[in-house]
Amino acid sequence: MKDTIKGFLDLVKERNGHEPEFLQAVEEVAETVIPYIVQHDIYYGKNILLRMVEPERLISFRVCWVDDSGEIQVNRGYRIQMNSAIGPYKGGLRFHPTVNASILKFLAFEQVFKNSLTTLPMGGGKGGSDFDPKGKSDNEIMRFCHAFMSELFRHIGPNTDIPAGDIGVGQREIGFLFGMYRKMRNEFTGVLTGKGMTWGGSLIRPEATGYGTVYFAENMLKTKNDNFKGKTVVISGSGNVAQYAAEKSLQLGAKVVTLSDSSGYIFDEDGIDEEKLKFVMQLKNEKRGRISEYVKEYPNAKFTKGKTPWHEICDIALPCATQNELHEDDANALLSNGCICVSEGANMPSTKEAITAFHKAKILFAPGKASNAGGVATSGLEMTQNSLRYKWTREEVDNKLKDIMADIHKSCIEYGTEEDGYIDYVKGANIAGFVKVADAMLAQGIV
Ligand code: NDP
Repeated sequence: MKDTIKGFLDLVKERNGHEPEFLQAVEEVAETVIPYIVQHDIYYGKNILLRMVEPERLISFRVCWVDDSGEIQVNRGYRIQMNSAIGPYKGGLRFHPTVNASILKFLAFEQVFKNSLTTLPMGGGKGGSDFDPKGKSDNEIMRFCHAFMSELFRHIGPNTDIPAGDIGVGQREIGFLFGMYRKMRNEFTGVLTGKGMTWGGSLIRPEATGYGTVYFAENMLKTKNDNFKGKTVVISGSGNVAQYAAEKSLQLGAKVVTLSDSSGYIFDEDGIDEEKLKFVMQLKNEKRGRISEYVKEYPNAKFTKGKTPWHEICDIALPCATQNELHEDDANALLSNGCICVSEGANMPSTKEAITAFHKAKILFAPGKASNAGGVATSGLEMTQNSLRYKWTREEVDNKLKDIMADIHKSCIEYGTEEDGYIDYVKGANIAGFVKVADAMLAQGIV
């Protein structure tokens, strides 16, 4: 088996050797899915996984825009249309200076499995730009978004490809992107998700990824007759996913002690309660400030520059910032400090070595493609409401989100339960996600 996996990975490396994040994501899937393929004749010998690692389409384009001082700026825009076997491409747009083809291909590849897990008919895609929204004025953000969409619009559509937000792309950016799409196409359709509530957005969409990550963790804890009540929770990030993961943790009776951004993390021993979280939301979403400003408002808390929060004592860890932010030594620190559950809100935040440490210790560990799927699932619900020209209540959407997270959890148990009863959620999510897409690809022939 090892040789088969190595042979496959060597081939993928040969073609994508300069794309480390993409290779990391493929390796994680190959290690769990190839043994399954080998055991199942319907998939064996059809090069299904080899087909799945090749994007159906990779679009790269120039984005020119004028900044506030009148300088012409040039950025690079992308859309990776990875797999549309079970539905139109669906996945977020990321605006961050680190964006490149490798990062977007890893995200698009993960998205294919994640979207399949949601049980909704959505293929996988991802896109974005190396544009850095930090420090830009609202007018600069608008000009960039408009320039970006003036090319992207020809490649997307409500039945073709439906982008959403990701790092650096929130409701403000979705608004500007939607405005230009509507103008270019002269149509009002559900082509983007994460829209504002008065123009087609779904209730609970802003909360969905963070809430879903916590719902998934609740499902995992339930297998041990446990829950969030009274638990200490460590969270990284302070953006969309982190904020709502914190909010739901609080609602379920836990104490949240950390949040972070790329400059460092804050630790609040007294707990980040609802009032403090409201301050963080205003600070990050409206003032676009830095998390270090928290300690000016709450001097009992401490800010640690340039570090991540994984060495703080906790029961539950929710990595909600970015890829590869939790390394092996962080995993070991979490384990020796008594952490029993890790649910990934971000995409691929734990390195391969960190995941191995969690698995060895047999703690509850959920990979992002399962635990953060609530965001895209609720985007799917937004698309449904747009098509129906209807709006569900907050409670209706939240209940659907809870049901979807419970269903994803069930699928992980079905495909990931080991002989000794330990649930390998990585294996479960990869195989469950693979089966649905592979079946559709087989049914549709070699296209
Ligand atoms: P936001 O832009 O709202 O927030 C991102 C947060 O992560 C910020 O606090 C940011 O800090 C921090 N961060 C970003 N890059 C780094 C870095 N290199 N090192 C340390 N911290 C960093 O994004 P989201 O909350 O939407 O996304 C967070 C993660 O969740 C991403 O991995 C994304 O792919 C994933 N995700 C998001 C979904 C969604 O619905 N939004 C859906 C599913 C997954 P700073 O402000 O300093 O950059």
